[in-house]
Amino acid sequence: MKITSRLPEVGTSIFTVMSRMALECGAINLSQGFPDFPVSEKLIDLIHRKMKDGHNQYAPMPGVPALRQAIAEVVAKTYGRTTDFETEITVTAGGTEAIFATIAALIGAGDEVIVFDPAYDSYDPAIRLNGGIPVHLNLSPPDFSIDWNEVKSRITSRTRMIMINTPHNPAGSVLSDADLITLQKLAVDHDLIVLSDEVYERIIFENKSHESVLKYPALRERSIAVFSFGKTFHATGWKVGYTVAPENLTREIRKAHQFITFSVNTPVQLALAEYLADTENYLHLGKFYQQKRDFFLQEIKGTSLRALPCYGSYFQLLSYQGVSEKEDTAMAEWMTREMKLAPIPVSAFYKDKSDHRLLRFCFAKGEETLQKAGKILRSL
Ligand code: GLN
Repeated sequence: MKITSRLPEVGTSIFTVMSRMALECGAINLSQGFPDFPVSEKLIDLIHRKMKDGHNQYAPMPGVPALRQAIAEVVAKTYGRTTDFETEITVTAGGTEAIFATIAALIGAGDEVIVFDPAYDSYDPAIRLNGGIPVHLNLSPPDFSIDWNEVKSRITSRTRMIMINTPHNPAGSVLSDADLITLQKLAVDHDLIVLSDEVYERIIFENKSHESVLKYPALRERSIAVFSFGKTFHATGWKVGYTVAPENLTREIRKAHQFITFSVNTPVQLALAEYLADTENYLHLGKFYQQKRDFFLQEIKGTSLRALPCYGSYFQLLSYQGVSEKEDTAMAEWMTREMKLAPIPVSAFYKDKSDHRLLRFCFAKGEETLQKAGKILRSL
């Protein structure tokens, strides 16, 4: 049988490849981004109770009302915006499904979508699988800032959407108030939709404030903000996230969501609804991760590795130009196989495979793991 691949050049995701290599080689795995801290006992007990109480059948398609109400309260407290949980919030199977459902619902054949590279690996295939045309704009180290004049010059009559990600994976950069104001003007002037991946909203450092699209009234009217409980509650394996978008966009997103996953698991949603009521359960995440970042940076002090600025997310980029001339994929593989420490090569996040000789390290790990990683990095 002849099969025509819709994604001929796509292989296994770099996160899976590097995690598998780390496992094979017995290497410390700072590649795929996931925390190794335990999930709150309280939250686990709540889920257990919900299961015992018989909440084990399909949840309503957009998410259980109690959770959507709790999310609306969180959004109000965090961003000072009133949202209607009935019409503006949809619970999804993680951030990735939220992104896919949004694109599937809103992007059609020939629609152009502006994507900034380095970019999370699902963006480009999600656009292409739905007939859209990704327009990649490269951002450069060390600060990965966006040149909005360049963005403007790439907008055509077919541009339908701009995707942003703040705090940024893998760069650790964050967008500023000025960025969002410029984006707002562009989006309004050119009638664009903004898909804003904000899954690291709470992992932000140095007292910076997270600039959500939800804070900007004219932007909010044309944006979909994507969030993730996996990142906030150390539970990436639960795959629960959500979108916040105005009613007209939400209506369309739900049409796609209902045929992708239909609905998200019930007991976790009910448990999260209760857990979210206490702001103590999520308000200190930035501080917690800033300590992790600083601990990791302390570990590599005095080496020839150069740490790039990191203001958010749980990823630290290191430039190894002072250590090796290897390409980043070769360096990542060598480090994993020979030094027993697995990172992610940043070229994997560029469509054109731009290689700035950077590796991404996930510091969402216990101190002992970070110490072991530090020892290896100091020995390079
Ligand atoms: N978001 C995680 C990362 O960037 C990985 C998710 C995945 O493996 N698909 O490492």
